[in-house]
Amino acid sequence: MTITQKTDSELQAPKENTPSDFIREIINSDLASGKRSHIATRFPPEPNGYLHIGHAKSICLNFGIARQYNGTCNLRFDDTNPCKEDVEYVESIMEDVKWLGFDWEDRMYYASDYFQKLYEYAVKLIKLGKAYVCELTADEIREYRGTLTEPGKNSPYRDRSIEENLALFEKMKKGELPDGSAVLRAKIDMASPNINMRDPAIYRIRHAPHHRTGDEWNIYPMYDFAHCLSDSIEGITHSICTLEFEIHRPLYNWYLETLNVKNPPQQIEFARLNLTYTVMSKRKLLQLVTEGHVNGWDDPRMPTIAGMRRRGFTPEAIRNFCEQIGVAKADSIVDMAFLEHCIREDLNKKAKRVMAVLNPVKLIIDNYPEGLEEEIEAVNNPEDLSRGTRKVKFTKELFIEREDFMEEPIKGFHRLSPGKEVRLKAAYYVTCSHIVKNEDGVITEIHCSYDPNTKGGTSSDGRKVRGTLHWVSSSNYIEAEIRIYENLFACLNPSALDNFIDGLNPNSLSVNKQAKIELSMANAQIGETVQFERLGYFCVDKDSSANKLIFNRTLPLKDSWAKAAKKN
Ligand code: ATP
Ligand code: MG
Repeated sequence: MTITQKTDSELQAPKENTPSDFIREIINSDLASGKRSHIATRFPPEPNGYLHIGHAKSICLNFGIARQYNGTCNLRFDDTNPCKEDVEYVESIMEDVKWLGFDWEDRMYYASDYFQKLYEYAVKLIKLGKAYVCELTADEIREYRGTLTEPGKNSPYRDRSIEENLALFEKMKKGELPDGSAVLRAKIDMASPNINMRDPAIYRIRHAPHHRTGDEWNIYPMYDFAHCLSDSIEGITHSICTLEFEIHRPLYNWYLETLNVKNPPQQIEFARLNLTYTVMSKRKLLQLVTEGHVNGWDDPRMPTIAGMRRRGFTPEAIRNFCEQIGVAKADSIVDMAFLEHCIREDLNKKAKRVMAVLNPVKLIIDNYPEGLEEEIEAVNNPEDLSRGTRKVKFTKELFIEREDFMEEPIKGFHRLSPGKEVRLKAAYYVTCSHIVKNEDGVITEIHCSYDPNTKGGTSSDGRKVRGTLHWVSSSNYIEAEIRIYENLFACLNPSALDNFIDGLNPNSLSVNKQAKIELSMANAQIGETVQFERLGYFCVDKDSSANKLIFNRTLPLKDSWAKAAKKN
């Protein structure tokens, strides 16, 4: 699918919390009319890659509807293609759906569970005179199919007798015919304006082992045939899928009607989720992984659920995002900044505050007693005071951010500079007296004096300071590596490029190895997300070890979406 380039103002804005959408309206009316008495949906991933944020939208929709209507939602692996599927993917999909907060209970299925039934349905179609074995080559089939403007031509094999078709299909099944030598096709209408209805393939020959059925089958059903019948076998009522399947719906219905299936499921299409600055097709994501543009499917820059989890995104925030963007009938691109806004909103409430200095320079308080260590009480989360406080060691020598000092401050710079007084967060006011530089002119020490009457960061005489700096004691800290991410792609819509790889952002990852972090993080757990005061949200990476802490920057604090929303 290609998406036309959108301008900033055309990017989708979040809707009001929508309790209803066109899919829920269909369900409501089906329940009201008595057409359905219960609701059954499914999430049907093909296990040929990791799930991405687009899948999260589909998961939230399918499982969310089941939850809302007291119905059921099945997890079904669409494993009809033996060549591309992998157990690693099956396991990652299960983990991701659970992590998002959904439960298929005992309803985990595979399309391959139905291979025998699907085969019997195919035989039934042959017996009804509605399917035939075609021996045209793939090229010939394409040629006979016609185009959007020209009708197709009937295959010379179209009028084979039922007996001959049954015998040939049996040979296909037994593995007596080589790959590509024959296909079973539905006999519909080679002149249909809908190309999907021009005698589509039902079964193809593949002498390939399948990850679940092994060497049992030499023929595999096509998606359109397997999908509607799998839905029907499972008693699905509403088969919710993305818009590219709209044009397949007549075929979905044709199979169910021709096979006279009872209570046929109804296919309903919605617009897939697209996000700016990323790609969402599994084929493209796989290419990023195999060509080494990222470090695996769970690279924190990937739009995969696994990548987002590792980055520090939360399931609650992703669910909220999916709810806010709503369900629509028309394709659009959602602004990545809106997803990030949802993540920040959630982390702001949840993340413990910690002090860390990423680009350290020494600050020395000349009038502070040598050897003294004070325990400063710092609030864990100002948004949630029930989270309490923690003790942070304060000493004569500290680290502050190099960017928080300017020898010759520009207009509007309210942080530290010679002669200026600032607050050290939760500790004291300090005033810069002088600095020391090395022979290259680089500042190595910033000397200050402190006011002992400003303990806790407030002055008793009501004196105000404009700047508040975070700090870490230079004798009480842990070192950490910080991985800082930017958008994986530098352009708004990489899928619109001839080669999406050209859109990659060369600065999407930078590594900081000099960060100093307060000691309270010594026991940090992998996956824990904290807010480094004034810097952003950071999540402990799985690559951390007992003697090396590694953080992923989840997001910086600056929220461009919230800022834009305020302006409007
Ligand atoms: P891709 O195009 O990314 O390779 P797919 O559609 O082939 O994805 P499936 O594993 O077949 O991937 O998808 C499982 C379900 O998730 C399908 O019902 C599909 O419609 C839905 N889905 C896939 N991508 C998106 C998306 N971007 N937004 C919403 N739903 C999606
Ligand atoms: Mg698919």
